[in-house]
Amino acid sequence: MKFKREIQIFWQMGVSSKQIEFVKWAILLFLRHVRVEDKIEVTFGQSFRLSKYKQKRPSEWKGFMDADKIFEFLKNKQKIDGNKYYSVLLVHNKIFFNQDGERSEIAGLGQSDAVAIVHVDQPKKIDTYYTRAYIVGVLMHELGHIFHLINESRTYNVTLYKGCKHCSRKTCVMYPIVISTGLDLEKTPFCFSCLFELRNFFIEND
Ligand SMILES: [Zn+2]
Ligand SMILES: [Zn+2]
Repeated sequence: MKFKREIQIFWQMGVSSKQIEFVKWAILLFLRHVRVEDKIEVTFGQSFRLSKYKQKRPSEWKGFMDADKIFEFLKNKQKIDGNKYYSVLLVHNKIFFNQDGERSEIAGLGQSDAVAIVHVDQPKKIDTYYTRAYIVGVLMHELGHIFHLINESRTYNVTLYKGCKHCSRKTCVMYPIVISTGLDLEKTPFCFSCLFELRNFFIEND
């Protein structure tokens, strides 16, 4: 199975052009780390309203969006378009994830070969170091999942989180909960094992 040559950026209405441009820069940084910047193109898709995925009833999850449902919507769109690209969707509303009937707040969600959702927070927060580090960390993590991290066969430095294999090194963005502020995201977002796996994926599927 070969990898797709395009990543399309989509965004929730209200996400600013500064946020979108920043994410494009961060995706290009990811592609450079993995050494595929000349093989994958980053393009802009469109905006979505997404208001029907927002919780409206006055409960503790009011204002949050259901990440699973948005995921299905995006995967469906991708399929209709002929499955030619990967989707990265930026949202400013908070999102939650369902597992075994329990909801938890998440910063992002990503699935092999398909779609990533990244919470970019409110537009004005993009100017702070903390938010920029948060976005880069979450984005790199979800892109890692899109490109098959963590591999089924890997048994070392692995930890399970929400039913999915993650890296057990806290200094790696594939650690279950990304601790962006302590990491050198420009130079070493991934640990040696995860980076090796990623580069291998592209070499084997080229
Ligand atoms: Zn993850
Ligand atoms: Zn790692």
